[in-house]
Amino acid sequence: NDFIADLVKQVKPSATIAVSMKAAELKAAGQDVIGLGAGEPDFDTPEHIKQAAIEAINQGKTKYTAVDGTPELKQAIINKLQRDNQVDYQASEILVSNGAKHSIFNLLNAVINPGDEVIIPAPYWVSYPDMTLLAGGRSVIVQTDAEQAFKMTADQLSNAITDKTKLIILNSPSNPTGQVYSRDELTAIAEVLKAHPQVLMLTDDIYEHIYWGVEPMTNPVALFPELKDRIILINGVSKGYAMTGWRIGFAAANRDIITAMRKLQSQSTSNPCSISQAAAVAAFNGPQDCLQTMTRAFKQRHDFVVQALNEIDGITCLSGVGAFYAFANVTALIDSHKDCSNDVELATWLLESAGVAVVPGTPFGAPGYVRISFATSMTVLEKAMARIKQAVEKLR
Ligand code: PLP
Repeated sequence: NDFIADLVKQVKPSATIAVSMKAAELKAAGQDVIGLGAGEPDFDTPEHIKQAAIEAINQGKTKYTAVDGTPELKQAIINKLQRDNQVDYQASEILVSNGAKHSIFNLLNAVINPGDEVIIPAPYWVSYPDMTLLAGGRSVIVQTDAEQAFKMTADQLSNAITDKTKLIILNSPSNPTGQVYSRDELTAIAEVLKAHPQVLMLTDDIYEHIYWGVEPMTNPVALFPELKDRIILINGVSKGYAMTGWRIGFAAANRDIITAMRKLQSQSTSNPCSISQAAAVAAFNGPQDCLQTMTRAFKQRHDFVVQALNEIDGITCLSGVGAFYAFANVTALIDSHKDCSNDVELATWLLESAGVAVVPGTPFGAPGYVRISFATSMTVLEKAMARIKQAVEKLR
């Protein structure tokens, strides 16, 4: 269609959303489909958070707020960053947006000039390359594999940097791999960053609280205060507090970058929903035990799913330490399957013959893999794993 802008024509719709829609379609048509494609917790938003939103409505907090967020929410975020991450920010260094995705979109558009390079380690969250494209930048993909637990090494980063590099994106815990950068790995990456003063780094911390590793989680900003001006910390309430529909995320960064991002937001969406902002205040300031309860459940499901996958002929899966995804290598299964020649076909086959929806690895930059979300009950997961196993056994 000639009416559509060239740039937008190049953008792919989100593959994860596409799988959820296909599964929903089959379900609506009466088929018994188990959806393991979703990127959101199955838990309900905790009660005290919902109550705060109801109170906000009753108190008439239903008008425009400051573009960058209410003073209450910005203070709650500053307190959260001190409490959970041991980092100090001023109110002028915080911007609240419509989800972490919007924060990332704002950042890319605020700093990327045409042709600037953005270093994205693969497997990556599906949206990074397309958002980079929309901002006029060029994605430089750094491939990682299971042997390195899907984490970019400092050497790989160093080799990928050119005089056009503007930004590095780190996402830890990672969607789709569930892996987390250790303190030592972050230190090595920071050394590379120190040698390239023209390069910024985004740390996408959206899965921060969904973590069960042994080593305490380290935030790059806390570890390297001298790099604070060049690190943009992005986080939100979506995953940890089971608040995906409320659309609240935030960025913490140096004042100039935040000012530029706020300007973009002021000319596009204005403030995020006033009621959701009041709910987010309750999330950050209220009792935090809900985080532990949910994370404990995610770990139990992770352990079950990873073990069940590894027991299926042709599938191998590395254990993760966070987020709610198992990222399984299905290359052996594809090789032995007469009707499938890649992960996209395999995912379609799983949907049609096992009634289980998973997301193929290709849109995450990892052909030969599938992403299985375990943000659903153990009962459903047990049924799904049994169905996959049975469908694979029938092939033999
Ligand atoms: N970053 C990563 C790695 C994600 O997986 C997601 C959601 O899927 C987001 C950011 C976006 O989060 P939000 O729902 O707050 O926009």
